Amino acid sequence: MSMQGKAALITGSASGIGRAIAETYAAAGAAVVIADLNVQGAQAVADAIGAAGGRAIAVGMDVTDETQVEAGFAECVRAFGSIDVVVSNAGIQIVKPVQEFSYAEWQRMIAIHLNAAFLCTRAAVNRMYAAGRGGAIIYMGSVHSKEASALKSAYVAAKHALVGLARTVAKEGGPHGVRTNVICPGFVRTPLVLGQIPDLARANAMTEDEVIRKIMLKDTVDGVFTTVEDVAQAALFLATFPTNALTGQSVIVSHGWHME
Ligand code: NAD
Repeated sequence: MSMQGKAALITGSASGIGRAIAETYAAAGAAVVIADLNVQGAQAVADAIGAAGGRAIAVGMDVTDETQVEAGFAECVRAFGSIDVVVSNAGIQIVKPVQEFSYAEWQRMIAIHLNAAFLCTRAAVNRMYAAGRGGAIIYMGSVHSKEASALKSAYVAAKHALVGLARTVAKEGGPHGVRTNVICPGFVRTPLVLGQIPDLARANAMTEDEVIRKIMLKDTVDGVFTTVEDVAQAALFLATFPTNALTGQSVIVSHGWHME
């Protein structure tokens, strides 16, 4: 699964899943743009990839800011000559009952998870269609693109919406060889998940260990966390798949938490 000669932009790649995808793509030969709100973290990842012999640049990007998203994509083409793969991955979590969400919190969640996916999609397809060399767009969904959990209304709504966006852009992009797919991970130990365990423990009157066993991993086939490497391998497969045969799909990487 070589990515030689390809350029990829991964949002939210200063940490967690996005970082693992960037490192995996770089190891497969891609030039990668580490796009993140956390500029120092992004630079550290780019430096680490460079030290390992890969090609990477860091770009400061708030994925909810139209101008910054456009600038990041322009920088990818300027630095590497093309944009071939995009992973819309940046994300946050807010855990509370729907009636306790402020409108500002709701809008922030939708902006980071859904509006950002639109901004990245538009920036990508404009450039991919013009270059005429196809491309792959990958949205970081979740098992919460398929299932609901209490206390995660904005997250679940936005992650479900990504499936609709991917399917629509698959139809529009098909004639241009632009494929879109959604990766739906189960729980992965990253700062995003570690940060919500205390909130879930409080809200459910459980210990943190019980949150992991009785909520997060309850419906997996083996009680095991999905890893960033598992998700990165799925992202590599989707980035390198050669034809439109695999487009508009969801790949669920969750130790069997959700099956379809
Ligand atoms: P993480 O917290 O480790 O990394 C998220 C990254 O996104 C951080 O580097 C952060 O700086 C960046 N970010 C946040 N807001 C941003 C913004 N406005 N603009 C640019 N960058 C921003 O989290 P993670 O677990 O690696 O999550 C990555 C994606 O995977 C998210 O979309 C998340 O919903 C999804 N996901 C995670 C899990 C899990 O269990 N960890 C499961 C399913 C889906």
